[in-house]
Amino acid sequence: MNILVINAGSSSLKYQLIDMSTESILAKGLCERVGIEGSNIEQKVNGKVYQKTLPLKNHVEAFAALVAALTDPEYGAVRDLSSIGAVGHRVVHGAEAFTSSVVIDGAVMKALRDNIPLAPLHNPANIMGIEACQAVMPGAPMVAVFDTAFHQTMPRRAYLYGLPYEYYEKYKIRRYGFHGTSHRYVTARAAQLMGIPLERLKLISCHMGNGSSFAAVDGGKSIDTTMGLTPLEGLIMGTRSGDVDPAVIEMLTTSAGLSLKDAINVLNKKSGLLGLSGGLSSDWRDVRAGAQAGDDAASRAAEVLAYRAKKYIGAYIAAMNGCDAILFTAGIGENDSYARELILRGMDYLGIQLDPERNKTRGEALISADGSRVKVYVVPTNEEMAIARDTLALTGTIEARFNSPAVERSLA
Ligand code: AMP
Repeated sequence: MNILVINAGSSSLKYQLIDMSTESILAKGLCERVGIEGSNIEQKVNGKVYQKTLPLKNHVEAFAALVAALTDPEYGAVRDLSSIGAVGHRVVHGAEAFTSSVVIDGAVMKALRDNIPLAPLHNPANIMGIEACQAVMPGAPMVAVFDTAFHQTMPRRAYLYGLPYEYYEKYKIRRYGFHGTSHRYVTARAAQLMGIPLERLKLISCHMGNGSSFAAVDGGKSIDTTMGLTPLEGLIMGTRSGDVDPAVIEMLTTSAGLSLKDAINVLNKKSGLLGLSGGLSSDWRDVRAGAQAGDDAASRAAEVLAYRAKKYIGAYIAAMNGCDAILFTAGIGENDSYARELILRGMDYLGIQLDPERNKTRGEALISADGSRVKVYVVPTNEEMAIARDTLALTGTIEARFNSPAVERSLA
């Protein structure tokens, strides 16, 4: 069965077509600047690149362009849509309504709309992506996979803010956490690598990319994570501040004279590595290069990022009363030995010791020293595969009906 995985942003549509019999990627593509001038689509199939600049006024048009690319006789991956068994959609915020992935129906769509106030930037785009897909592939079985679902196991001591309880009751203001699909994938893979059942492991999953979050995963369940109500809380990220005293926002509006909207924009878009480095870059590679060349602005950005990360690792070892392994993943976590070294340096008291040679690795590997009580691994994440697996698990039988001759006739 082939599964199409969709990740819709406000002006983009990323996709992968995966053959689940071998878990191999048949096609990978991206529609950019949807609804903006200069929109385009790029797709790769077996090294062949399909590229077109064409007007994509909305997500329905982007989806139609995606279908045309996938079924293109020369550059496509499939003959027609009937070879796509089901579609998995990444959805950012499932709030408390979703503790796992679900088959999309009318009730699910309503719940997604109800969640818009919790994720005003992300959920409307995800909904547009699903509706566009429904318009172009009516009747195709579809699954929603939520970034928040994995963290719904957090106990209330971890998810409640120290606010008046009524705000949680009335508005569901609480910590939700994100990157759940990645944390779930990486921790399950680590258990396989370690040859120990996930249920018996205490793991810290460190997803470090442009957006970053850590999760404390005890026995396969997320018991705490660094992101909160939104993906702004927690670690220092590319452009996001992570944790700040909320009074900072008041000072930005009084002393710095910003509007509330601009102050929040500063925390989301102008802070983190970009802000701390004095505008040098939000990209870790630039910051690392600057720090290694002795640039003070770059060094301070790297130091603050690593120190915040180190504190959270310490906190999660305390929260779980132990830790079997720390897992690094995503753009920085998978690729950057310098960042990993900076974070884990001086944690031998907690039984963490990197092996400098092993740490130079790229790709899946054990990177801790032989004597390290806490193992450290690099485990590349694969959120698309996790979405495809959930979609297969939930739609296997529905797909049999969808691809029946009667349904194919009705779609013709
Ligand atoms: P992601 O959001 O997972 O795509 O990760 C983006 C971040 O990963 C950026 O800060 C990049 O600088 C960083 N990154 C990507 N590739 C590398 C690499 N080869 N070495 C170090 N950092 C990298």
